Amino acid sequence: MIVRTVRGDIAPSALGVTLCHEHLFTRPPSWAVDLDDDMVLDDVDRAVTELQHFAGVGGGALIEMTTADYGRDPVGLAAAAARSTVHVVSASGYQKGIYYPESLQEETVESLTARFVTDITVGIDGSGPRCGVLKYGTCRTDFIRDDEQKVQRATAAAHLATGVPISTHCQAGTLGDVQVAGFRSAGVEPGRLLIGHVDRNLDYDYIRGIAATGAWLGFDHWTKPKYPSDDRRIEFVHRLFDEGFTRIMASGDLGRPSYQPSWGGTPGFSGILEQVRARMDDATAQRVFVDNPREFFAFEPVAA
Ligand SMILES: [Zn+2]
Repeated sequence: MIVRTVRGDIAPSALGVTLCHEHLFTRPPSWAVDLDDDMVLDDVDRAVTELQHFAGVGGGALIEMTTADYGRDPVGLAAAAARSTVHVVSASGYQKGIYYPESLQEETVESLTARFVTDITVGIDGSGPRCGVLKYGTCRTDFIRDDEQKVQRATAAAHLATGVPISTHCQAGTLGDVQVAGFRSAGVEPGRLLIGHVDRNLDYDYIRGIAATGAWLGFDHWTKPKYPSDDRRIEFVHRLFDEGFTRIMASGDLGRPSYQPSWGGTPGFSGILEQVRARMDDATAQRVFVDNPREFFAFEPVAA
């Protein structure tokens, strides 16, 4: 088993303390940037600074969840990772429907699958670093769009062809249960799914229901004041652990300049790690930040 980072394949035990859903480089479509100027991360030196701060508080690995439709930068990722001790994993797949390029309408499940598999087995765009995770996301809170269902089938097929795990975006934390059902019907075992952003929708029965399928939970919006409080997040983590649902990972999803100190923001990857760890006993933190990522992001590679 290996974990596929942008610097190459590593033993899962080499990951260390891992944030499961972060961003070093982002550039959403121009219409989105026009609406909100706090969306673009595009500086290698700043990315390296953030990684160094993270390493300084014991950080070992960062799962970088920016996909092609959100401005993934394979050159920047490789350059930043080369200058840091932190392992960086890059994502294939797509973010969510509203960001899909127009060209996606012409694509088939087969053509999408082939591109995702190339990202993972050959390299991004055929020449860049290889991806070690598949992202999938939905942009609505009430149903999954047709184009997102097409991408879901391609994501499932790429997973089945490569073994790479799938990590998702749930809009405002919703539809995670529907995502799991869709992947299951496409042959994906729930234990290979990390359902993201559920801590934006702190409904215990909903979250417990996802956990009961064997899927993993992403508590990945810590410290953000506009969402539920960290007090409630930690209450949910403890309650789930008490019931034996320990497949939980943590992160901050810090995909904006205002979240990163090198851009004048806060709390940064180091701040997330320190603040969340301070709320957990050592055994829980070890499970959430070390043991769970080591298990979830590991896969048996197939030849290109
Ligand atoms: Zn994200």
